[in-house]
Amino acid sequence: MKRRLNIEEYAEGVLAGNRIILSKAITLVESRRPQDRALAVQLLERLLPHTGSSYRIGITGVPGVGKSTFIEAFGLYLIEQGHRPAVLAIDPSSPKTKGSILGDKTRMERLSLCPEAFIRPSASGRSLGGVAHATHEAMLLCEAAGFDVVIIETVGVGQSEVLVKSMVDFFLLLMLAGAGDELQGIKKGIMEMADALVINKADGDNIKAAEQAKHAYENALHLFRAPENGWFPPVLTCSALYNKGIKRIWDTLLQFREQTQQNGFWEKNRQNQRLEWLRFALQEQLLEAFYAHEEVKNKLPDIEAAVLHNKLLPQHAARLLIELFLNQQTEV
Ligand code: GDP
Repeated sequence: MKRRLNIEEYAEGVLAGNRIILSKAITLVESRRPQDRALAVQLLERLLPHTGSSYRIGITGVPGVGKSTFIEAFGLYLIEQGHRPAVLAIDPSSPKTKGSILGDKTRMERLSLCPEAFIRPSASGRSLGGVAHATHEAMLLCEAAGFDVVIIETVGVGQSEVLVKSMVDFFLLLMLAGAGDELQGIKKGIMEMADALVINKADGDNIKAAEQAKHAYENALHLFRAPENGWFPPVLTCSALYNKGIKRIWDTLLQFREQTQQNGFWEKNRQNQRLEWLRFALQEQLLEAFYAHEEVKNKLPDIEAAVLHNKLLPQHAARLLIELFLNQQTEV
């Protein structure tokens, strides 16, 4: 019943902004079946000239900080301004079965009903690297489909931020005003990656604490920031729930784009990111090929056992395995 689309149908559908075909194309790039992969690569290369024109925005923050509330308010504001936002997610908690940190489809209900927006949950059931790859490719597809702002959401738990940072133009960290310990609980490394900190839930009784936190973060940022892009990350406050401060945040993003396009950082960053993804893909594909290699598969248990029992140095073991992989004769 389900006929597979051919490459032309995929490409034309995506370029026409057909959301059903866009969804199918994203499913295709998420697939690890070799025949799907081959088609996905053809499709992406075909669409490549139509990609790259969106504003790519990464948004992170601990669970409960208000990411989905914020993205909904922000996305609706963008639509008002005539934009077409797409929202993608990188959820390292493997939501294939359960335990998704970023939740399910009930999030961002109003935004998901807007014909101008496109929301896609995280790819699932794969390594973080695999999920990030799929998201990166999904972003390209969204751009080809005419979405001019792509928001990539992830949780503030570590490794996934680095991957998001490597695919976005602007990285926004959502935070909360803490009870006196504003600088606790968020990793310094993540703060250093941020192009702006936004303290959410600045409403009601929380306004004062949010202002205090803003000052504390401003001071903290000045301690370790040496901006290579000439941009000093501002600290802003907002209330996603009451729709306050959203315009200010978008204006900040526009200012960042203008400034970095003028000083050349914008394009340089995109170029570096492409190289980063090449290196990342090389590592992934080499490892995949390595572990799929017959000889390696056969000998790996023995070599691991030898390392386990201290009969073989790990370094030496690795070299023996690599020689096997390179099809060289070796004695174990
Ligand atoms: P996420 O886990 O980071 O996606 O957080 P959610 O967007 O699901 O928000 C977590 C809770 O915080 C929900 O109950 C929201 O209604 C609430 N929340 C989000 N933004 C705000 C805000 O600006 N002000 C207040 N008071 N509550 C908010």
